[in-house]
Parts: sequence; C-alpha cells; structure tokens
Amino acid sequence: MSKEKISQLESLRAKSKREADLFFSLCENGQNFVESKKLKDALGNSGLKPNDSRLQSLFKRLEAHGDTIVFEDFISIIRTSGLLVEKALRGQLALPDFIDFSKNLDKIFDEVKKMKAGELASYIPPLAEVDPDQFGIAIVTIDGQIYERGDSLKDFSIQSMCKPFNYCFAMEEMGLEKVHKHVGQEPSGRQFDDLTLLARTVSGNYTGEYAKDNLEGRFSRVPFNPMVNAGAIMTAGLINPEDSYTQRLRYIRQKFGSLVGWTADDGSSAEIPRFNKDMARQENFKGYNNIAMGYLLMATGSLPHTKTDLHRDIHPDEDEFDFYIEPAVTEALKLYFSICSLEMTATDVAMAAATLANSGVCPISQHRVLSQKTVRNCLPVLQTSGMYNASGTFFQEVGLPAKSGVGGGILLVVPQLMGVCIFSPRLDKQGNSVRGLEMAKRLTSKYLVHTFDGTMTDTGRLDPKLPIARWKADSCGEAIWAASNGNIRTLESLVSQQRDLQTGDYDIRTPLHLASAEGQFEVVKFLLDQGVKPIPDRWGGYPISDARNNNHKKIVDLFNKLDIKYTEPFHLVENPKGKTDKIAKFEDELMVIELLFAATENNVDNIRHLVAKGVPVNAGDYDLRTALHLAAAEGSLEAVEYLITHGHPLNVRDRWGATPLDEAKREKRKSVVNFLNKYNH
Ligand code: GLN
Repeated sequence: MSKEKISQLESLRAKSKREADLFFSLCENGQNFVESKKLKDALGNSGLKPNDSRLQSLFKRLEAHGDTIVFEDFISIIRTSGLLVEKALRGQLALPDFIDFSKNLDKIFDEVKKMKAGELASYIPPLAEVDPDQFGIAIVTIDGQIYERGDSLKDFSIQSMCKPFNYCFAMEEMGLEKVHKHVGQEPSGRQFDDLTLLARTVSGNYTGEYAKDNLEGRFSRVPFNPMVNAGAIMTAGLINPEDSYTQRLRYIRQKFGSLVGWTADDGSSAEIPRFNKDMARQENFKGYNNIAMGYLLMATGSLPHTKTDLHRDIHPDEDEFDFYIEPAVTEALKLYFSICSLEMTATDVAMAAATLANSGVCPISQHRVLSQKTVRNCLPVLQTSGMYNASGTFFQEVGLPAKSGVGGGILLVVPQLMGVCIFSPRLDKQGNSVRGLEMAKRLTSKYLVHTFDGTMTDTGRLDPKLPIARWKADSCGEAIWAASNGNIRTLESLVSQQRDLQTGDYDIRTPLHLASAEGQFEVVKFLLDQGVKPIPDRWGGYPISDARNNNHKKIVDLFNKLDIKYTEPFHLVENPKGKTDKIAKFEDELMVIELLFAATENNVDNIRHLVAKGVPVNAGDYDLRTALHLAAAEGSLEAVEYLITHGHPLNVRDRWGATPLDEAKREKRKSVVNFLNKYNH
C-alpha cells in the first residue's frame, strides 16, 4: 500500500465527497477499488438478506461485474437500490449496530431456551401433537433487516395472532366507525374465550357488562374487543360477507401474503400462507364454546344477518321440518376457524408485524398493504387487549402492542422500529407462550423499546436505534465536552435528566478530569457539590494531576481539601522530541467520541460506518486522543489495521505526548506493537 494511493483517494473524496466516502470506507489497504465481496459482507453485516427483493438488481450487477469495482462503477451499482445501500453502509438502518444487537439477542435466546415450563394446548389433537421443544425467533425492522434464530423457518399454526389482522382487514373494508358498531375497543380482563359481552348504550357512550335482562332495548351488546374470540369471530364475519367462504378465505390469505411481502409486482399474490384444513375441522368439531359465542352474537343482534327467508316446509312426514341454522353464524365461525388454522413461519409473522410497525407498508415489497389510519387504530387495541387477561401486566412490563396464539406464537410490534415473532409451543395458564413471554420481557429489559421509555435515562439499558459506541458516547461525551468548555448550563440540564456525571470515557477520563485540565474552576466546584467523586483515569491519574500539570492552582487547592489519597499517573512517552503527525478536527464532537469507542471495542463495522459518514479517521478528542491511540491501547488489531490502511498517520500525540505505539507498549499489546513497528519501516 502506498501513500500516493491514499492521496489519490483523497482527491477523489474532494470531488464527490458523499459517494467517495462510501467507497473509501470499503477500500482495503488503500487500494483504489472495492472488492465485490467486501460490499456483500457489509450488506450482510447490516442485516440485509441476499434474497431481499430490493437488492436483486444490485446482486445481478455484482455477479456480472467480477471481483473488483472501481469508483465510477461502484456509484452506478449502488444506485440500483435507491438509498438502501447507502443507508446500510453508513449505519443508518433502523438497527444501526445490527451485529451487536444480534449478539445480545443470541445470548437472551440461549438463556430462555433452558425454560421448559408450560403445557401444550390440548383441546385439539393437531396442537397437542406438536414438538413442545421448538423455539424460534425472528425480528424484521422497518428497513427490512432480518434477525432469525432457532426454528424461525418452521411453519406453525398462527391461531389468535390472526386477530389484529382480521380487525385491520375489516376496518379497511368498512371503516372504523362501522366496525365498532359490531365490536368494542375495551379490555375485557377475561379469558380469551369468555362468553361475556360488553353492554353499551346504542350511542356507544356507556360501557359495562351484559348482566341484566332489563337492559333490553336501551343497550346493545358487542364483544369487548377484536382480540378476544368473540370479537375475532365478529370481525371475521364482517370481511366480505357477500362472498362465498372460499372467496373470503382466498382473499384473507392473499392479504396475509401481501403483509409478508410475497405479492408480485402486478398486484397478484405469488404465494399465500398454508391452510391446515384438518386443524380447522378439529376446531369446528371441538369448538363448542366458540359456536355458542357465534349464536350469542346473533342473539344480541351485533352479528349481521344473512338475507334468507324461511322456506316452505315440504316434508312428507307431518312432524318433520328443516332445522335452520343461521348461515351468518356458521360462515363467520367457519372463516374464523380457518384463519386461525393458517400456518406461517416466525419470520413471516415478524414481517407482518413489521408492516404494522411501518404504518402499513411492507418493509421488503415496499407496497402499502394497510392504510396508516387502519394501523393507527389497530395498535392501541392490540396494546390494551392483545394479551387477554394478562394485557395489563404485559403492558406494564413489556409495554408493546402484542398478540399471542395457542399455537405458541407471540408477535410484538415496536412502532417505527420493528416487528418481532417468537414461537415456542408450551403455554402458561392464560394461553400465552412461556418462552415467548420471557423473551419479550428480556427484550425490554435489555433495550429501551417500551412505549413509555421515551423519558428514561436508564443507562443500564440500550437504545437499539443507536450504535453501541454512539450510546456510550452520548452517555458521557456531552458532559465531558461541557465540563471542558465550562458550560455549567448544559451540566445542570444533564443533572435534571438524572445523567451520571461521574461516567468516564474509553480512558476513564471524566468531566472532573477535563474541567481540571482546562482550568474550569466553577465547573469543578459544581461537580464536587453534586457529589461527583474524583476517580483515577486509565493511567492512574486523578483530576488533581490534570490541574497541577496545567498550573490551575485554585483547583489543586480544592482537591487537596478532600480526604483522598491521590496516586500519580504513568504515561509512557519513549521519544518526546520525535515526529508528530496531524490530528484532524471534526465539528461533530460526539461522532468523534463514537469513533474512539468503536476503536476501543474493535468494532470495525462501526468504524467503517463513521468513515462512510465522512468522519476523518484521525479525528481527535479533548485529550488529543485518536482512534489509533485507543485501538492500540486496547490491542484491537483489526481496528488498528483498518485505521492505518485508511490513512491514519502513526505519530499522532495525545495531551501527554504519547503516540499509539507508546500506548501499545505501555499496555503490553504485543501483536499491535509488532504490527506498528512493521508498518513504520
Ligand atoms: N383457535 C383458538 C380458539 O378459538 C384460538 C385461541 C387462541 O389462540 N388464543 O379457541
């Protein structure tokens, strides 16, 4: 690799900065071409799948192109997929740190897998006979990133997970108001198959239970909501009631096909979910309670009648007559049983849930399947009633719209972020998957995805919308910059947000260190008044050393009043008079701190995203530390290599004069020392 090549690239970047940054971030060893494999790997690491329909023409071009791509071709190739590839390369998809997210989910999955509690649904043989140990999870983001683990590609019975979708389909046909003439939107607080109906005035402004007969006339009776059986039988009954059963089922299967992104470009559905007819027949055979519910709905008048007249009885036997069963009831039940008996994989259901998270547009096909209004009206009901009589607890603990089914599936919607489906057939008493519930709980205890997490500054949990390095940068960077610049206002506002002002960066440099180094006396006082304790940094240096080295006597006196035994820091600087390379300034200071955290963690993917966003590799922080200092100190060899081959100079010096090589030596990072020495010659 030569210095000239890097400068060639530099001049390219000057010409067409944005696109050249993307290209540069993928070049290896200062070459002026990108390897086709590197581009594919970067897309895979960002969570996009090779079979993603949005990437098909890009992959075709890549196949035709050969192994290496020069700048001009690179630009025309990535443009075939609109902005998708650019977003992926810059780490701007819904889950920007997809690899880190996947690792955390893998860990949770492995722990939850050990749980064996719960029982299979036993009311019909096809559900009682499934392998109880099955366990799978799939997550699809609104940008179409896909995480899959375990039995995520096995078909299983969607059962009640169909309910929110039936509700949506009915609303698309009839509109919200008409649908709610037939079904309520109140939590029932009861088992999913409870026979109680909600009584309300004809104008709909009183809710209570259907208890007393003398309410007749003044009250209408409807299912509590579309998420319990009564409500789902009702919504099934409302979908295209004029059509035949087969037409209706076909229509619904096609709708599911579109939710999952299987719809072909001409609008026809290339594929539809499998229908398990045996399951539907067994549901019918054993579904006494549901059948009772169907008639109850008819009796209360909320299920629309079919327009049939009573035919003349023509039996020769004078006591015999045709027993009449209202077709509206049987049709609604038959359709309901059939939709419950559709089979999909966890990945399919997660995609349908992601369509809800994405306000009705399927993330992969990019087709609008449901209107924004429909989705907006469905999610609140899902949130308050989706988990039946466990909905309240679930809302509090997990805080996400969710729906379970007795087939063992649970779907979750994280609005504007992702759809999740967990599948594991053992159920608890409420009919919810035991492992599914546990996964959902652990997801919210790891990530800030609860509906009401907006105001949390709980640093123990991660924001999935941020790369982990950015998350760390945010939780310490702002305070450190504010302290070093004497900005007490900002510090005060961080205090009221309950942010920890003692948190240090990758070098355990804290706001107190920087305020002391920069002679910000008022800030030091403010921090001490807030109860912040002086702690040693990476080199064993307390803030008092910073104050002393920079001749800030008043601050030194302040620290001397505290009853703390301060140690002296050890900085290794082998050749203080040696060559000194330039450190770049970059106006977005938090992005610089993110870069240094990423280098600390050897997260080359994250470094690459930042380079693609135009952050100079040799940007320095408040202590003139650069990514190479950190990668060297932590022994992050891949990061060291990436930085150097992307033009990071070797002899940058931090506040104390140390170079990356000094840092690698001091921390005894042998492989990095060898690498840097080799490189220097
Ligand atoms: N088919 C089931 C029933 O109606 C669905 C119930 C469920 O999944 N909770 O009983």
